[in-house]
Amino acid sequence: MLVYADNAATTKLSEKSLDAMMPLLKEDYGNPSSLHTVGQKAKEYLEEARETVANLIGAKPREIYFTSGGSEADNQAIRTAAYLGAKKGKKHIISSKFEHHAVLHTLNALEKEGFTVTLLDVYSNGIVKPEDVENAITDETCLVTIMTANNEIGTIQPIAEIGKICKDKGVIFHTDAVQAVGHIPVNVNDMNVDMLSVSAHKFHGPKGIGFLYVKTGIPVRNLIEGGAQERGKRAGTENTAAIVGMAAAMKDAVENLDETAKKVSAMRDRLIDGLKGIERSRINGDLENRLPGTLNMCFEGIEGESLLLLLDARGICASSGSACTSGSLDPSHVLLSIGVPVEIAHGSLRLSISEYNTMEEMEHIVKSVPEVVSYLRSISPVWEKIMKENNN
Ligand SMILES: *Cc1c(COP(=O)(O)O)cnc(C)c1O
Repeated sequence: MLVYADNAATTKLSEKSLDAMMPLLKEDYGNPSSLHTVGQKAKEYLEEARETVANLIGAKPREIYFTSGGSEADNQAIRTAAYLGAKKGKKHIISSKFEHHAVLHTLNALEKEGFTVTLLDVYSNGIVKPEDVENAITDETCLVTIMTANNEIGTIQPIAEIGKICKDKGVIFHTDAVQAVGHIPVNVNDMNVDMLSVSAHKFHGPKGIGFLYVKTGIPVRNLIEGGAQERGKRAGTENTAAIVGMAAAMKDAVENLDETAKKVSAMRDRLIDGLKGIERSRINGDLENRLPGTLNMCFEGIEGESLLLLLDARGICASSGSACTSGSLDPSHVLLSIGVPVEIAHGSLRLSISEYNTMEEMEHIVKSVPEVVSYLRSISPVWEKIMKENNN
């Protein structure tokens, strides 16, 4: 049995998405910038896809800029607001400690350019407090960027409230909604956001494609110079097949959102039920405000990497947290941000479920994880020490 339980890292391409892409990969291969029939056909597909994704988040087609994915959208959003602010002498940015590296590393780069960054606490439940955002805003603040849902622990942020505060104070508000779109309701108006990042491969679309929503009136800054694609804001011949595949996947995901969430959260809850009894374990992040499919746990006395390898040997594909952090020995910045001690953060496991998983697979996970944890603890000097301390 091969169980893919790493859907926060990437997802399987849906049949609907693949089918939608095929004509563009085969006969309708035109360049949307070409004036001839073949080009104009491709342009029609492109604009139809733009309209589809715009409608699905309550935006206008002109507010959508296709990008190579979530990382590019985050980079472009942050630099847009930062340089717009700098022109008015405003060089302060507010974000949170547990953002994706696409956000945090862009902020690091801007700090080297003279911007100041405030990273808000996310507390033990993994949720930003709107009043902290309000208190952090100064006359110098040009941007607030807070993710809609966290990619490691799945906690959902009070985006509409934070957006309202930013609106009232006249500060641009961006949200990285990469984990949210297609999984929980996302509407740019209800959420009071000015900019929002999306990536297709997190909702069963193709990799290497996403978009940035930018509210009318905010002049977008280019990251890539060249041709006049995306209204001059993102040069390069459009990846028409991927864009159409993204629109099809997003439509499917958003239209079936409630049904999928029900099915997926039932599987996630089975995991919680089956694993929460493991001695000296913890579930990371708020249990109520979370994505339907994400579960993050820590097991004391073991290394997450060893756990992953042994689970992989049993056909279970999981993660220790962020795909970017896996392979390095640093514990997850997300777990540290919610106050998990370094030693315990090393023993983390993220299971992320999609509608392609089955209850039978959950049973396999629920049986395997305790066995593997027990085995690893039986050979762990750290665990031996914990047990000794406990007995004395
Ligand atoms: C996956 C992810 C990204 C990066 O998106 P790519 O399309 O892979 O560049 C950004 N933010 C979050 C929250 C993510 O989960």
